[in-house]
Amino acid sequence: MSTVAQGVRIDGGLIAGTIEAGRRHDASRVREILARALELNGLPDADLAVLMGVSDPQLLGEVFHTAKRVKEDIYGNRLVLFAPLYISNLCANECVYCAFRARNRELTRRALSQDEIAREVTHLVQEGHKRILVVAGESYPHEGFDYILNAIDTVYRTASGPGEIRRVNVNIAPLTLDEFLRLKAKQIGTYQIFQETYHRETYAKVHLGGKKRDFDWRVTAPDRAMEAGIDDVGIGVLFGLFDWRFEILALMQHIRHLEGRFGVGPHTISVPRMEPATGSDVASHPPHPVSDVDFRKIVALLRLAVPYTGIIMSTRETADIRRETFALGVSQISAGSRTNPGGYSEEENEDSGQFCLGDHRSLDEVIRDVAALGYVPSFCTACYRLGRTGRDFMDLAKPGEIKEHCSPNALATFQEYLQDYASPATRSVGEVTIAGALAAMEPGLRARTEKMIRLVKDGKRDVYC
Ligand code: SAM
Ligand code: SF4
Repeated sequence: MSTVAQGVRIDGGLIAGTIEAGRRHDASRVREILARALELNGLPDADLAVLMGVSDPQLLGEVFHTAKRVKEDIYGNRLVLFAPLYISNLCANECVYCAFRARNRELTRRALSQDEIAREVTHLVQEGHKRILVVAGESYPHEGFDYILNAIDTVYRTASGPGEIRRVNVNIAPLTLDEFLRLKAKQIGTYQIFQETYHRETYAKVHLGGKKRDFDWRVTAPDRAMEAGIDDVGIGVLFGLFDWRFEILALMQHIRHLEGRFGVGPHTISVPRMEPATGSDVASHPPHPVSDVDFRKIVALLRLAVPYTGIIMSTRETADIRRETFALGVSQISAGSRTNPGGYSEEENEDSGQFCLGDHRSLDEVIRDVAALGYVPSFCTACYRLGRTGRDFMDLAKPGEIKEHCSPNALATFQEYLQDYASPATRSVGEVTIAGALAAMEPGLRARTEKMIRLVKDGKRDVYC
């Protein structure tokens, strides 16, 4: 089976053949592939299919170790932090796995007013967040699409104390080209959209009503976003709907399409794994459940296949799984998340959330944990504000360049967090992390970074290079 939507070609027959051929391999082939992966040029599908089939614990350990090295070469030990902001759970679609689906009567429906959005943002800013992902179902209140545009204005306008949101990313349903142009004009960072499943028959079975039934409209959304000049686009798969091996190779076909057409692939890849959701049997019993080992494999393989693309890990996963995947390739994480509109500033109202969370810790706790593990939490938003997006970002993502910009920015923004928001316990862990990271830098870079950190300590905010 091969499906083509305006040039996005998902060739199911080719994928099945590649997976089948990958089953025949020996340890020396696996090691050859891993050696090639260390050159940071990505991997062809045939090699990925071989790695997918690795189950021997020793060899699997080598796959994970290689992914860790690639992650460290490119991203060092930084982890970028963000929070989702669910502004509305109104939805006209019938995605059987989602609590927001139209026919779910067990959910309290709500679209936040602009004042309520401002309250949520104030709460997030006061916790220390600098990046927000605006999320909504596909049915907007009376303003229509303007509701989303107004919400973005509200987020950027809402400062509190020394902080403000510096980058708004958006995860909403596919838009027309004209709507994407209007979204771009709002200075968004990344437009994110997950295909959910690239397997057309499965897609039809789990999307039973509303505009989202149209596979092609969705799979071509990244094209329209890029045509509109939004060159940081995030894609993803909802793991659990179909065989994860198929999904990874289909995702690679989608990536190659974008690279071929626009000269740049996705800015980020998300790997949501299906979680229980109010009013959804499917969510509690995914048709193709992904085990924890396979989930780690998915992250590791993506890191080897697309070394320069960000990988996002949400709080759907437990703290333990999240910790394991940081080492395998994850570069961005959410923290302290709520998936119910109003969930940050109001009493918990779990029955309006989208799905169950696996990690309930606050931002401060997550930061303390990752810093203690040796990672540098980063609130950096420099790239997109300096116009380093799309292809420019990918060029910058080459290891040497990243060290010049991202490491100093990560440390300066982390210092800012420690000064303004951290608990005493987190501050003392964080200071040790920063000292360790500075000590590991070569002298020129260290001097530059120390200067930026000194500015932050002296009260200057939003210091970046
Ligand atoms: N409504 C828009 C859409 O579907 O494109 C915006 C995004 S939706 C609110 C965010 C994402 O949540 C979906 O794309 C889907 O991958 C994910 N999701 C839905 N139900 C889920 C569940 N039960 N467990 C984990 N993720 C889920
Ligand atoms: Fe609506 Fe998105 Fe949930 Fe589907 S996944 S029901 S489109 S909110």
